[in-house]
Amino acid sequence: MSRVFNFSAGPAVLPEPVLQQAAAEMLDWHGSGMSVMEMSHRGKEFIEIHAQAEADLRELMDMPKNYKVLFLQGGASAQFAVVPMNLLRGKTKADYTNTGEWSKKAIVEAKKYCQVHVAASSEDAAFSHVPKQAQWRLDPDAAYVHITSNETIGGVEFHWVPDTGNVPLVADMSSHILSRPMDVSRYGLIYGGAQKNIGPAGVTIVIVRDDLLGQALPVTPTVFNYKTQAENDSMSNTPATYGIYVAGLVFQWLKKLGGLSKMEQINRAKAGFLYDYLDQTEFYHSPVAKDDRSLMNIPFTLRSADLDKAFLKETEAAGLTQLKGHRSVGGMRASIYNAMPIEGVQALVQCMREFERRHG
Ligand SMILES: *Cc1c(COP(=O)(O)O)cnc(C)c1O
Repeated sequence: MSRVFNFSAGPAVLPEPVLQQAAAEMLDWHGSGMSVMEMSHRGKEFIEIHAQAEADLRELMDMPKNYKVLFLQGGASAQFAVVPMNLLRGKTKADYTNTGEWSKKAIVEAKKYCQVHVAASSEDAAFSHVPKQAQWRLDPDAAYVHITSNETIGGVEFHWVPDTGNVPLVADMSSHILSRPMDVSRYGLIYGGAQKNIGPAGVTIVIVRDDLLGQALPVTPTVFNYKTQAENDSMSNTPATYGIYVAGLVFQWLKKLGGLSKMEQINRAKAGFLYDYLDQTEFYHSPVAKDDRSLMNIPFTLRSADLDKAFLKETEAAGLTQLKGHRSVGGMRASIYNAMPIEGVQALVQCMREFERRHG
């Protein structure tokens, strides 16, 4: 067996011990005589798996009791619509920050349901930074303020939590949830698709403060009504059972590792290793402002785009895959989520050095 170092932005690398455990339990989960995929979501085995996953997530994130955890489907993209449906609560306006491609998508979708006010934008600076809060123009009548706290494509991350007063803060954390401790109490709602930093595609996690529930627009589909799903342990309809199981294994892996503070240390070491190299060479370039660089998604360019093809060929041959940048920005992107070992980042930097030596 030979596994590559997979730098995909998502679906992405998973911890090897998790994959091994899932394989070992594939045919017979804990003496049940069946795979988790074959279980009724209402049976006692799956109810136990689901409850354990939720309890572990609450513990990892040190989540206050007045927050509900939902395991939904439809991806973060569905949440772009589901958030306004549930959180407008009789209001007609919402504030959005525009810090990259995923912000833009969230804004386009929200406009179908409410008046979107862009409170801050870095679009005229090619999305290279997060606008400082002093430059934001918040609307006190907004139902909520939406941020994309880690822009997966641009590699721009909020390393601070905006102050939105009494207006609930909503964050799309798809690509950095569980990468470090987050103060859940500062947010009204957090959501994220699982396939970046948590598990397989198909599960979307929503963490919502309970006082925000119960005022969904009447047209809201039942499966996307937060209150209904909260009252039914996310089982108003069949949930993504196998994905929830694997996410639960990842939560246990994180707990065994030492929790999110430990994970942050490791992630800072990994990202620091690559950024240090990017900053000391003229051959490669990081387009993102230093204070706002993502620990998870690291875009970079080569001195000339003419070298991109050769670079991708050489890294691929060295077992380093999926480094091509998003089509909307070009260049390269190394996604180094929780499950990417430091050895993967070291192998990448070594390959980059050798490439520079021959082409620089
Ligand atoms: C990947 C991603 C999405 C979209 O996720 P889907 O599961 O494809 O809907 C949304 N926001 C961010 C920040 C992402 O990284």
